Amino acid sequence: MKNSIRSIRFFSLCMFLFLIINITSFCQDEVDKLHKEALVWDCHNDLVYRVLYEKLDIGVRLPAGHVDIPRLKEGQVDVQTVALFVQNFLYPDKCAQQAFQLIEAMKKAIDKNADSVELARTGADVERIVKAGKIAMPLAIEGGHAIEDDLELLRKFHSLGVSSMTITHNISHGWADSSGDKPRWGGLNELGRKVVKEMNRIGMIIDISHVSDETFFDVMETTEDPVIASHSGCRTLNPHHRNMSDKMLRVLGDNGGVIGIVFVLPFLTPEYNKAMGDLIAISQPWFRKTPSVEDLDARIAIEHLRAGQDWPMENLPTIDDVLDHIDHAVKIAGVDHVGLGADMYPRTPSPVGIRGAQDYPNITRGLKKRGYADEDIAKILGGNFLRVWKTVTN
Ligand SMILES: [Zn+2]
Repeated sequence: MKNSIRSIRFFSLCMFLFLIINITSFCQDEVDKLHKEALVWDCHNDLVYRVLYEKLDIGVRLPAGHVDIPRLKEGQVDVQTVALFVQNFLYPDKCAQQAFQLIEAMKKAIDKNADSVELARTGADVERIVKAGKIAMPLAIEGGHAIEDDLELLRKFHSLGVSSMTITHNISHGWADSSGDKPRWGGLNELGRKVVKEMNRIGMIIDISHVSDETFFDVMETTEDPVIASHSGCRTLNPHHRNMSDKMLRVLGDNGGVIGIVFVLPFLTPEYNKAMGDLIAISQPWFRKTPSVEDLDARIAIEHLRAGQDWPMENLPTIDDVLDHIDHAVKIAGVDHVGLGADMYPRTPSPVGIRGAQDYPNITRGLKKRGYADEDIAKILGGNFLRVWKTVTN
């Protein structure tokens, strides 16, 4: 009798484990299928710096860093927007020169890997390229100072294939104020409004990541098209100047725009931001040194080196912090207005749970776990950015 009870118990336990294993693998398959079928779009990465200054081939899996073509394929990323960041200290008259260099370098890297990637100028390009099984790469100028206060340069960059531009980076320049600098105009000045209108006219996407709050509201008052914040977070969760307040998120939602949630660690949690602040305070003398154009390569190499050595590694933010920012943005702006804009920097840590582009399926898994409908997950993964690109650029 005892033996038969024992065997019934053993059989029940086996059945229970069998069921659990099956349910888990079913969920796994479901997430994999959902991720594979969705358009996955990361709206911000500085890949071009690796190409131009580190002379690396992004077609091979690099020993360090977060993003290269093999990692993008592994993570089934369909669209990678490449930011062409123009150094702030080149303003006012040496920015265009660097922007042209960055455009050329990225185009060469794309041509070299033409089997896997293609430059996308418009939403229609994105759809065509992804349908052909390749990764679409839109180019984005980071920093409106790049146009050197000249609308002709804006048009030139656009004609070379650049589809979006952040109004500022970390400096207030000749026509707009940045969140990272003292205000010069209290938002946009008259030329700034002209730039916004010209971007509307030529079908170039306006990116408000990095701008001051006043600039943001001036842009929203002036633009006739939806805008994006390619790589920002939510200020309610972390009061960082690079993050958006609830009021800004609401206005962005009303405009039909999209915020790409950033993975940059100091933007995610106040604790990590404080640790970074302490580190920067120690490094002040070095940061104060104004480099010349000539030692730009050296400066970037040093920045990377320092980042790798000194970044605080304790209590790193995790993928759950990223998901919290997504949740909050969805709650305030609406599920049609949230996307991904990781900005994973080559030599600095990424959130725990996302070692690089290969781990994007973890975002899909996390959203599924939090109860998002499949249709909404697809919007967040990239559907929302595609909608804006199709509205503005076609
Ligand atoms: Zn940025």
